[in-house]
Amino acid sequence: MKEYKDVTITKKVASSITCNKCGKSTNISDDGWEQGRFQSFSLSFGYGSIYDEETWKFDICESCLGEFVKTFKHAPDVYNI
Ligand SMILES: [Zn+2]
Repeated sequence: MKEYKDVTITKKVASSITCNKCGKSTNISDDGWEQGRFQSFSLSFGYGSIYDEETWKFDICESCLGEFVKTFKHAPDVYNI
């Protein structure tokens, strides 16, 4: 049988988010709603890639993401949740 006690655990939560491309930044409230105007990317490159086994993490605002996608030769598929 185990007995349990209350403990306080400290964890890090994002307090702001900044677009890596344009530098636009916003604070993130407890409900995180503002974070929805940004997309977070984590890309892992495998062995043999020109970015051999690197991992990139960055955040992009919706405006910059829209401009980036407009440079695509083929538009991305769009789905509604
Ligand atoms: Zn941006």
